Amino acid sequence: MKILFFLIIISSISFSQEKIMSWRLYYEYENFREPEITHRRVKHNLIESLIKNYAKNPLFTVRELGKSYEGRSIYLMKAGTGKIKVFLWAQMHGDEPTANAALFDIFRLLTQPGEFSALRDTILNNLSLYFIPMLNPDGAERYIRETALGIDMNRDAVQLVTPEAYILMNTFKELRPDFGFNLHDQSIRHAAGFTPRQATISFLAPPFDYIKTMSKNRMRAVQVISQLTDILHQFIPGHIGKYSDDYEPRAFGDTFQGLGASTILVESGGWPDDPEKQSIRKINFITLLSAFSSIATGSYNKYSSAEYDNLPFNKRMLYNIILRNVKLNGAVTDIGIDHEEVNYDNARTFYYRGVVKKTGKLNENIGITEYDLSGYEVKPGKVYDATAENIEAIDKRKLWSEGYLTVKTGNKEILARKFMKTGFNFTGSSALKQTPVNTDSEANFVLVRNGKVDYIILNGFFINLKSDSGDLPNTLILQ
Ligand SMILES: [Zn+2]
Repeated sequence: MKILFFLIIISSISFSQEKIMSWRLYYEYENFREPEITHRRVKHNLIESLIKNYAKNPLFTVRELGKSYEGRSIYLMKAGTGKIKVFLWAQMHGDEPTANAALFDIFRLLTQPGEFSALRDTILNNLSLYFIPMLNPDGAERYIRETALGIDMNRDAVQLVTPEAYILMNTFKELRPDFGFNLHDQSIRHAAGFTPRQATISFLAPPFDYIKTMSKNRMRAVQVISQLTDILHQFIPGHIGKYSDDYEPRAFGDTFQGLGASTILVESGGWPDDPEKQSIRKINFITLLSAFSSIATGSYNKYSSAEYDNLPFNKRMLYNIILRNVKLNGAVTDIGIDHEEVNYDNARTFYYRGVVKKTGKLNENIGITEYDLSGYEVKPGKVYDATAENIEAIDKRKLWSEGYLTVKTGNKEILARKFMKTGFNFTGSSALKQTPVNTDSEANFVLVRNGKVDYIILNGFFINLKSDSGDLPNTLILQ
């Protein structure tokens, strides 16, 4: 054991400074997490109040750049006095907030660095950092991708129809940054290559023409990504992907790369059991601080394009669940199920809608969770008529084992809702006798062998009747 420890010490000497530091950031992260941001659906009023507090801090210069279509202020925050200009913009897509949260964790480190004061000084003496947090506040308010005009800002880099895109382009042209960080979220169902591993972080040094010319500034972006890949493989091994490198002239990353800034796309994807993406937020914190250190010290120059070239491309092929080899309507098949998020309460929160996305042999797909159910037959979930009964008194496990997943009720308070946190879906419809198992229908069915229900799929969630607690995030009110 002692020898092993000794070997680890020896091998760590060959680690780059950023690699050692990344572990310290990993262990000390909780000291810097912005406590006001606790989940993804944070709105502009909170972000604005945090920014206004930083405006009082001499470390930051804060300027209002303009307003969103609906009049929400968009700010530029500057820290550092260095020669190298680094520009970061977050949440241009309103439902992509992970990196935005990490920026506020970084602001805490910059203002109260604790044991990281040397890192802070290296960064702020060598770099001038420019941040635009929450570039699309109207989209964030609704938790949607587009702006209030219904336009995808990342296809508006040429026409500049949206005020937010205009602000971004104007700011870029004023700053003429050396490096740019384009901070997004991607689907949690992207895999890092053909693997079951979610692409937790995907990078790209976007091309600026159709033949993907490797200019000097683009090469610098590639080298920084190579180093970041080397660092992040310590924390999320096998979970790093490369975003599609098709040239998109209407996108900002591609455009800024063409205008001479070494531009890096960072996409936050999925991580197992992290629906609010708080561990990916931490990975963003480590990623961006490592990048700042790398650019400040020039340590990326020790890297080639090798790590970047070896990154597997994202593959859009994951389902939340795949059931393998089940019998459906007489044929043996696979079923792909997703847990879709539906915004709720003015997009302050959400509930899940479990959906049958695809049936057939899904050999080109992988489930984040998979079950081999050879020998099992799919039967639609039945509707139990409880209009004359006390719903609280229903024994859910007994009804599940009889194939009932939905309860018919006359309770108006329940039927006015969208979802419930109980063991059944609810309906008021007399016509609904069982729930269909079709593509794009809600996933509510049972799995039967030898006449016995062993497993159920309730609002897309898998429950083993023998061993699972049967708790699930929510069920639905079905029409
Ligand atoms: Zn995006």
